[in-house]
Amino acid sequence: MAAKQTIICIGCPLGCRVTVTQDKKGNVTAMKGADCKQGEKYVLEELKNPVRTLTATVRTGDEAFPLLPVRTSKPVLKVLLKPIMRETVKAMVKPPVKEGDVIVKNVAKSKADLVATTDWPG
Ligand code: SF4
Repeated sequence: MAAKQTIICIGCPLGCRVTVTQDKKGNVTAMKGADCKQGEKYVLEELKNPVRTLTATVRTGDEAFPLLPVRTSKPVLKVLLKPIMRETVKAMVKPPVKEGDVIVKNVAKSKADLVATTDWPG
């Protein structure tokens, strides 16, 4: 039996709703709703290897500025989000920090770094 699902493309602000049909083996047999090739490519990747950029915070130990905002330096496989969060929770940062500084290198062996998204002190 064929499985049908709708994926919202995030390739641009249009946010096309793309309906994908897959056969029992997971092969895509039909795709409707993508307004461009980039969207079709995004949906195929989303089915095969979904990735996300993780945003989070790390502790500073400073009462006035307890949490430093961070994100992964590039999108990471969705299956790695939990292991990355486990390392993020354990991380502690000390000043000074500049936006873009690496807080955890190759976090959870994802090949992405956890980087600061702001200066501290600002
Ligand atoms: S399918 Fe193309 S036009 Fe539609 S949201 Fe994705 S990138 Fe934008």
